[in-house]
Amino acid sequence: MYDTSAGRPHPSVSLDTVPPRDVERPGFLVDLRRCIGCHACSVACKTAHAIPLGEFPLRVRWLPRPDEKTFAFVPVFSESRCTNDAESLSAGLEPACVRACPTAALVFGDLADPEDAIHGAIAELEATRLEAPDADDLKRDVHYVELEDFVSGKIHRGAQLDPRDEDPIYEQEGR
Ligand code: SF4
Repeated sequence: MYDTSAGRPHPSVSLDTVPPRDVERPGFLVDLRRCIGCHACSVACKTAHAIPLGEFPLRVRWLPRPDEKTFAFVPVFSESRCTNDAESLSAGLEPACVRACPTAALVFGDLADPEDAIHGAIAELEATRLEAPDADDLKRDVHYVELEDFVSGKIHRGAQLDPRDEDPIYEQEGR
């Protein structure tokens, strides 16, 4: 199993002692078995980088399953907007989204480094890329664990979290 404490140094550790992370080819793994759809990753990203309202480097889709009774929670990364959090990497930390996740559903690593633990996690958990031909801004180097077939055609729109909310912060359409 991958190291769920990676990138989250103990509060007593001075960041001055943590070396910067040198990542040649950034990649993410998303373990959908762990994702609870809480949006903490998306909020952490937007907060860390002062992303304007309505723009999402990473957004979490709540996708009704074909049974229409349950949801799949799927964090979707934007190729053009996600910067892999270079600021955190330069401070020796994992990206803000990874550090914020309460269930350790997100793993970050260097796909160019065969020694990086993300390779073992991708292989061990049989993680796969999300193929969504209609999505022109899907981040490529993201691997998902237990990706369900129905997801690929559904990522443009998830459930409206509160149908009574006329101006939802987490509207599920759009960018
Ligand atoms: S913070 Fe983790 S659990 Fe919450 S939506 Fe993001 S990936 Fe899922």
